[in-house]
Amino acid sequence: MKLLLVLLCTLFAMVPLARAADTQVIPTSAGPVKITPLYHASTLIEAGGKTIYLDPAKPAKLSGLPKADLILITDIHGDHMDPASIKEVSKAETEILAPPAVVQTVTAAKPMGNGETKNWQGWTIDAVPAYNLKRGPAPGKLFHDKGRGNGYVLTYGGKRLYFSGDTEGVPEMRALKNIDVAFVCMNLPYTMPPDEAADAVKTFHPKIVIPYHYRGSDLSVFTKGLEGTGIEVRLLEWYPK
Ligand code: ZN
Repeated sequence: MKLLLVLLCTLFAMVPLARAADTQVIPTSAGPVKITPLYHASTLIEAGGKTIYLDPAKPAKLSGLPKADLILITDIHGDHMDPASIKEVSKAETEILAPPAVVQTVTAAKPMGNGETKNWQGWTIDAVPAYNLKRGPAPGKLFHDKGRGNGYVLTYGGKRLYFSGDTEGVPEMRALKNIDVAFVCMNLPYTMPPDEAADAVKTFHPKIVIPYHYRGSDLSVFTKGLEGTGIEVRLLEWYPK
């Protein structure tokens, strides 16, 4: 009986630990922002008693997680826009911001195009263009056309967080200023390889960079590419089994 109790306590203690392991806590003047990698691009952001999801999508495990106050979507592909996952984390008051191309499917979303800024519950949200410069499924075609997808800069309590969305190292990314934590994609054939990602990151020089949406990429190439720059690279587990 005693053994069973110990076993149960251990199991229960392990559940929150498993989720908290890679959670980043970013101090800001408005209190801490907690960022938890869920899967690939799916991210949970918690601050000031509010819950934000970025690109909640299968196979991210969403059951048991808090419902969303805000959902941000970056693009139309299934790893970013997943109506079933959006429904799973939504409650009656959930607000959704998304590129106009997403709103065609996720009709509850409010459209937000490249270059637009919105204020939400103490956050400032800037939509940054996310697109391919040269990579596509066929000659003359791109996986992500300019103007369709959004990256986001989220400002809260004086700290600026950047989520790239699906993009190559476009001029709009390189021109970003004062980014505290950057979440940058890298995967072929859809976005960019780690060496190109490192080159773009060097240009806008965030304090901390966290690769995400990196399936199949050699992250050591990325880390090596930023050696000696003073940019801190943090590697998190975005593909839990
Ligand atoms: Zn993607």
